[in-house]
Amino acid sequence: MRLLTLKRLCLSLPGWKTINRRRTWARQNPVQAPRGTRDFAPHEMATRRLVEHTLRRVLNSFNYREIQTPAFEHLDLFLAKSGEGIREELYAFKDKGGRDLCLRPELTAPAMRFYHTRLSREPKPLRVYYLGPCYRYDRPQTGRYREFWQVGVEVVGEIGPRGHAELLALALELFSAAGLKNLVLRVGHLDVLRNLVEEMLGVPRADQAPLMRLVDKKDFDGIRTWASARGLSKPVVDKFLTVFEATRLSDLKSAVAESGAAQGAFDHLEQVLAGLEAFGAPAGRIQFDPTIARGLDYYHGLVFELDCPDLGAEKQLLGGGEYKLAALFDAQQEPTIGFALGFDRLLVALERAHALPEPDVRTDVVVASLVPEAHNTARRLAMAMRAQGQRVELDLTDRGPKKAVQRAMQIKARRVALLGQRELEAATVTLKDMDSGAQESVPLDAAAAAPT
Ligand code: AMP
Repeated sequence: MRLLTLKRLCLSLPGWKTINRRRTWARQNPVQAPRGTRDFAPHEMATRRLVEHTLRRVLNSFNYREIQTPAFEHLDLFLAKSGEGIREELYAFKDKGGRDLCLRPELTAPAMRFYHTRLSREPKPLRVYYLGPCYRYDRPQTGRYREFWQVGVEVVGEIGPRGHAELLALALELFSAAGLKNLVLRVGHLDVLRNLVEEMLGVPRADQAPLMRLVDKKDFDGIRTWASARGLSKPVVDKFLTVFEATRLSDLKSAVAESGAAQGAFDHLEQVLAGLEAFGAPAGRIQFDPTIARGLDYYHGLVFELDCPDLGAEKQLLGGGEYKLAALFDAQQEPTIGFALGFDRLLVALERAHALPEPDVRTDVVVASLVPEAHNTARRLAMAMRAQGQRVELDLTDRGPKKAVQRAMQIKARRVALLGQRELEAATVTLKDMDSGAQESVPLDAAAAAPT
């Protein structure tokens, strides 16, 4: 009541409306990039492209093929995959034809939609990768954006534990090739976990979803509250919770042996971890983690997450696992496994580790004509140099040698090529090295080659 009166009083004060208008303007100022999005300057883009290039090289070397899907999809695709709860994360809208669409929040569902509509006849196993922007109405902070880039892979077809080990080796290789050393890959198996829940707590799989969400958040008090609401006794729950104390797979051996049902899944996980070692993955970076639940029902089997501990709350760089989404497309389920990594988070991690690559964005040469008669020669020289792979700026302003050299200095070019009347008559060009200051006269037909 008092608050209401205060608000009314404030609204009646002169100046209040201006303050309010300014606040709204600050939030919606069209001159700023929208909240949670970023502009990338040329040097930032060059760095991003370098890292992207490294990731693509690794993905190609594991024989993954790139696919691309639209930036927006039918809203129902994501509601069907992740449930109504995802609605508040989505940038959803109606188009002019009244269709319910949304910007994609992730790329697994679009990739699977694409697979079931056009790629399902491809020979298996089919290995694809993608790299593209995703959109989520997240609370922005460092490493968490509303527009961010994901790089991900999906494999359709049976590849078994040896293939799964290779998939995890790929996940590690992506980061290590990008230059990130401090990371931890945590691996778990949902069938081990779900079987233990079934056997030890007597909770059938159909009722496990709330528990899985608590496990995913490592909310052990929440698990106790949930279990006691289901009438489970304290000793039973205590015994079950010891499962989460396991830090090595062997710690779970006795619980699995007692329950029996999870033995197959346990063996699978054992083979994956052993296989991973053979790929040269450093053992210190791989942990067994029984608490990975991935939160969503379509995951089953092998699940994994990769963290960079330097990043604090936003430390998760990658997540993935085996999943079942074929029912969304009325198709028969085939084995599917995949992961997605947060490209922007990888960049933040590289920056923190002082491991960002330095892109070479220097202009190789400024070609400057000093008189109008030299324009065409300058154009031809610039094109010949570009054909040799050089980064060339053409200056046809006839501003004189001093200004041309000044321009080259400003943009930190390596060389400047000057074409004046004297050079035209002698069919030469004056080349000045901007680092050493050395200057030489070179025959025009030899000038296109980059200095060795
Ligand atoms: P998810 O699809 O939620 O499993 O996310 C896969 C990866 O994308 C995560 O491990 C993060 O690295 C990254 N990621 C998820 N949400 C965001 C976000 N809002 N901003 C930046 N990266 C994100």
